[in-house]
Amino acid sequence: MFKPNPHLDAVTREANRRRGAAWREKHRERERVRAREAQRIKRLDPVYREQNKKYQKENYWKNPEIKKAEQRRRNRMLRISVLTHYGGKCGCCGEMRMEFLALDHINGDGRSQRQKHGAGIGFYNYVKKHWPTDLRILCHNCNQAIGLYGYCPHKMIVNIETGVPIILNPTGG
Ligand SMILES: [Zn+2]
Ligand SMILES: [Zn+2]
Repeated sequence: MFKPNPHLDAVTREANRRRGAAWREKHRERERVRAREAQRIKRLDPVYREQNKKYQKENYWKNPEIKKAEQRRRNRMLRISVLTHYGGKCGCCGEMRMEFLALDHINGDGRSQRQKHGAGIGFYNYVKKHWPTDLRILCHNCNQAIGLYGYCPHKMIVNIETGVPIILNPTGG
């Protein structure tokens, strides 16, 4: 941290401040890497981890609303980055608004996967670590229709001569 020296005159102080800022700008990326690495090593220390856990817990109860908002924001960023990785839109209808989107298991074994890796945001954490290839995005509408009826009406056309509906692709995608 930059600490102003009270014995320097204002002009020198300003010049120093600028030099410091220029240096930091130049070395920002290197500093960032170094800080990240230092943090990683620190987190391996069980004593630090225990202290940090305690501190986080106490800190949470000092300001639960702010902490909750931070958590929501982090979860949202995580969801956006995961959804973006898988194409960012519903594989059936192309819906792109993230509030409507969810990850779907192409093999349809969502239940066992969730039991293994947790539901909700825990699952997104797991996905971001491993990037499984058997996932796709569906919006809640298409997902629900495929789950309940075995096909999505988006993928259904009606034969105009016979009136018989034809399902183009039962499982969306
Ligand atoms: Zn859809
Ligand atoms: Zn659909």
